[in-house]
Amino acid sequence: MSFKSFNLSDLMIKSLARQGYLSPSSIQTRVIPKALKGGNIVAQSETGSGKTHAFIIPIIENLQLDSDRLQALIITPTRELAQQIYAFLEAFKGDYPKLHARLFTAGKETERTFRQGMRVPHVIIGTPTRIKTMLEAKSLIDLGSVKTLVLDEADMLMEMGYFADIDIIYRLLKAPPQMMVFSATIEFNLRKNLEKYVGADFVIEMDDVKTAKTVGHHAIDVKHGDRLHAIEIFIKTLNPYLLIIFASRKEQVATISSYLKSAGHDNIMLHGDMSARERKSAYKLIGANKHRLIVASDLAARGLDIKDVSEVLNFDLPKDLTYYFHRAGRTGRFGANGQCYSFYNSDTVTQLEKLIESGVSFSFHELRDDTIISTDKIARRKTRKQKVDPDLERQIKLAAAKVKTDVVKPGYKKKVRDAVAKVKRKHKREIIRKDIRRQRVARYRKEGSKNE
Ligand code: AMP
Repeated sequence: MSFKSFNLSDLMIKSLARQGYLSPSSIQTRVIPKALKGGNIVAQSETGSGKTHAFIIPIIENLQLDSDRLQALIITPTRELAQQIYAFLEAFKGDYPKLHARLFTAGKETERTFRQGMRVPHVIIGTPTRIKTMLEAKSLIDLGSVKTLVLDEADMLMEMGYFADIDIIYRLLKAPPQMMVFSATIEFNLRKNLEKYVGADFVIEMDDVKTAKTVGHHAIDVKHGDRLHAIEIFIKTLNPYLLIIFASRKEQVATISSYLKSAGHDNIMLHGDMSARERKSAYKLIGANKHRLIVASDLAARGLDIKDVSEVLNFDLPKDLTYYFHRAGRTGRFGANGQCYSFYNSDTVTQLEKLIESGVSFSFHELRDDTIISTDKIARRKTRKQKVDPDLERQIKLAAAKVKTDVVKPGYKKKVRDAVAKVKRKHKREIIRKDIRRQRVARYRKEGSKNE
């Protein structure tokens, strides 16, 4: 399929091609035609699926660029996400020089910087509270021509308690806008929140797969050993190109980071306690390929577009398993291959089982002798070693049956054990004899062929 089948303008097709977007992703195929017609959209879609373009393409197509009026509002839970969407919009400016978007996020735009009389943007992207404050500032921006309202990462907006602000923003609009809602999960409470905007019988546009098809899932049994050392073995064995190590608790993030540093593995941290400025500079360094290892809390698992992540390693499995999908979704983005590894042990095996139930297909590995080895291989080795010899089995059964009497007498078990041991010894002698014979025959053959 190509973007041409969507009835998009030639300019849009050209712009997409210039940016390297030639064929639409599955969520774009589902959303764009409906959105172009102005329909409400509720889509369940992971980051990495191309969901941002599923809403920005129809938004740009429907903008009246000659009018300096606000026409679309995009609400996101974090300023990083807002910045990411802003950057995607700005990338269209080469072909749409009149396109004017503005970020309304904490630390970026205030009533002081955006003043009466300034040029009103076509699109505002921002976090709920800042957008609400800015729009409430009377007569700063005319809301009469807002056609589209996007809620990106709606489950996260709800978790962060932002729906009160979103309700206020919605009520500020003069007419019900076209709603476009994107969320990784759509559970009962979110459905209820959305019904206010899109009615009760909305259809959910689904992405094809929960995590990109190109992600391989691996579980590594680290037993109860030292997981920090296990990370080192992991790095040594897999030599990852760009690895994100996820840990659920931020103290763990700090511990892992400093342990790796002391072991000579340069890395960078991403966690919730960092200031916006620190996070921004971390993303910059990552974007400039200054670090091969990122140690992160679940904050980084959601929404953020870190390019070329080749492997994800879960130091532990997240308590909320939806985060497993967020974490795994950091790799294998847009057709690239990616691998998601998870440390587990007997205490966390039930979490793995739940993931398997929800469709994740794992390959299993173990830590052995300072390397990571596939459990299949171990099993193959074991079966090779312990290959059951049907002849021996038969002899053991016969020997046991001979000892057996109708009435179980004292010492019976010992007698059976002794008889079986005798058979096994005999069998072993036989094997050794056979082996010697085989070797002798081989030697004769070799010498014979020499003499011929
Ligand atoms: P998102 O799911 O919006 O976070 O997008 C993930 C990545 O996919 C971004 O880096 C986009 O530049 C890229 N992308 C979006 N649409 C397409 C497409 N149709 N073809 C190739 N890459 C795309």
